Amino acid sequence: EEEARQLRKVNKAKITGDDIPLPIASFNDIKSRFTISPELLANLDVLGFDKPTAIQSETIPISLFHRDLIACAPTGSGKTLAFLVPLIQQIQDLKNKNEDDVLKGVILSPTKELAKQIYEVALKLSKGMGLNITLLSKSLNAKFKNGVIKKNKYELIITTPLRLIDLMTNLDPSSKVLDFQKLKFLIMDEADKLFDKTFIAQTDEIVSKITTNNAKLQKLMFSATIPSKIEQIASSVLIDPIRVIIGHKEA
Ligand code: ADP
Ligand code: MG
Repeated sequence: EEEARQLRKVNKAKITGDDIPLPIASFNDIKSRFTISPELLANLDVLGFDKPTAIQSETIPISLFHRDLIACAPTGSGKTLAFLVPLIQQIQDLKNKNEDDVLKGVILSPTKELAKQIYEVALKLSKGMGLNITLLSKSLNAKFKNGVIKKNKYELIITTPLRLIDLMTNLDPSSKVLDFQKLKFLIMDEADKLFDKTFIAQTDEIVSKITTNNAKLQKLMFSATIPSKIEQIASSVLIDPIRVIIGHKEA
């Protein structure tokens, strides 16, 4: 407890919510408290990530406990690994429990470029783990629509709101390619941009479709700033969330 207090002080971390888990001081700390894939730990090591950043210290345990989360940390502070490490681990855990191949996670990103960057990091982090991860694109969407890709091929989809809407609205619902009922993780990266004027209509539509009748869905919002609008959305979408603020909360 004292160590956690100290770490939070050094990290300028402010955490609020019920039953807040202790932060991790190293990636190896995960091993003593949760199941963690040896491949995932090895991949972190190979990629040269030896110590979690402030946001990663806090959000990795929160996410591994499957709690809803709103996290605010500056640009460049390592938010991508903060959500990918626990996400990849939990998808692996579900696979090990013999849950059939079904879509388990969706990551929403405001732009194609950012979505592609997240995808590339996800592939490197999950190397050797046998996960099926994809980046939605026009051509992939066309393949889904033509039935060229078998249903439930992917466990994790990374996409912009626009691409996902395009897929949702053009698919035959009976094809079950996107069975959101079994979705366990929804990550909203750069949440401030996802809900700004440009994208809010699309993001809202997706979030309401995905979250309806899905009590087991973990919802995580990451952002560099939390304007009051995001606060409002967070309080309507997240259930009993933990809030993590690193540094100053900018609006
Ligand atoms: P953000 O999304 O918060 O803007 P990113 O996730 O894009 O930040 O990470 C910024 C940079 O920090 C990337 O180059 C990433 O590889 C690096 N990075 C992330 N986590 C760590 C870590 N634990 N140790 C060292 N470098 C890291
Ligand atoms: Mg980022």
